[in-house]
Amino acid sequence: MVLSGESLLAIDGGIPVRESMLPYGRQCIDEDDIQAVVDVLRGDWLTTGPKVLEFEEAFAQYCGAKHAVAVSSGTAALHATMFGLGIEPGDEVIVTPMTFAASANCVVYQGGVPIFADVDPGSMLLDPESVRQKISPRTKAVVAVDYAGQPCNYSALRLICKEYGLALVGDASHALGGFLDGRPVGSLTDLSTFSLHPVKPMTAGEGGVITTDDADLARRMQLFRSHGITTDFRQREDLGMFFYEMTDLGYNYRITDFQCALALSQLAKLQKWINRRQEIASLYDKGFSEIPQVIPLVKRKEVSHGYHLYVVQFDIEKLSVGRNAIFTALRAENIGVGVHYIPVHLHPFYKGRLGYGRGMCPTAEAAYEQLITLPIFPGMSDEDAMDVIRAVRKVVEVFQR
Ligand SMILES: *Cc1c(COP(=O)(O)O)cnc(C)c1O
Repeated sequence: MVLSGESLLAIDGGIPVRESMLPYGRQCIDEDDIQAVVDVLRGDWLTTGPKVLEFEEAFAQYCGAKHAVAVSSGTAALHATMFGLGIEPGDEVIVTPMTFAASANCVVYQGGVPIFADVDPGSMLLDPESVRQKISPRTKAVVAVDYAGQPCNYSALRLICKEYGLALVGDASHALGGFLDGRPVGSLTDLSTFSLHPVKPMTAGEGGVITTDDADLARRMQLFRSHGITTDFRQREDLGMFFYEMTDLGYNYRITDFQCALALSQLAKLQKWINRRQEIASLYDKGFSEIPQVIPLVKRKEVSHGYHLYVVQFDIEKLSVGRNAIFTALRAENIGVGVHYIPVHLHPFYKGRLGYGRGMCPTAEAAYEQLITLPIFPGMSDEDAMDVIRAVRKVVEVFQR
């Protein structure tokens, strides 16, 4: 086939679909966000102060949870959950491999052993039956990830955790603003964690939050965030006002007041941004319904999807090249595609240290060869979304079998 001009791929010297790169994600920062940060900078509190508390209260309310604990990152939030649950050396925690490494690393931080369970092939969400198969007498908890922004099958996961006495942690870094059966993400598991990194649904620059209904766990995680030091002695007259005690080994995982001012300002706009993400996703759904080689992930009907990511699987059987060639071709068209994720158990750290490798989670491993993440963020225009669909169609038409 001889192609020229518009239909010649940019990697082959053709004209790219877009003149400039469309990133896969991008934060929204408005003037009111900037003003909120500046106001704190002019005040007396830079780190843990009134804005941290105010943000935690607003966040807990948004998520329908009794408590929220704000920390310095999503990774710190995950670590805090493992500490809060008392994970110790030798304990096993079942984790999905289709995630960012931090969801598993948090287990290792506490000396525990992450055990990878496989995912459902349509949605990339942790498969409850695979979780059940990986349970051993040493299993203490499950970390599920709301991949791409879709809440997991928590009714099934909750039942399994109840049956075996396991704690259920939801790494909801992707899913803030989503719902399952009308219940907000953040209220669906014993503990839920969030990231406030700039590509996530809302940002504080860096930051993380844990939500829970358990007051005791919340209190333990608050201590953990600041060296395990308690200052609850201020009312005791026999002790000096200086007195404090370190009761646990904690870290400095504090978040600043100006970050929480930004987060509060962002939280007020979150639902509007989620709505926009959902609009872009419907444009994609419609566009890709006409391209048989492109299969969007399955969205379950009981879910309101947060669409942190819009992920498609390329049907490699119907194409003459693999995922990497499609990825490179789309990049050349100036579409900022990504791949989420390299299955965690295939990283050298896990292969080398824990002897993990290929074959542990066949569905995740096979899916990894076909996945591409397309741009989605609230500041995208309909025209941007159309560019993405045009670029995908162009690449598929050249590479179709
Ligand atoms: C972003 C992310 C994290 C880590 O959050 P940070 O704030 O970058 O530490 C953990 N898990 C998932 C699923 C994430 O997407």
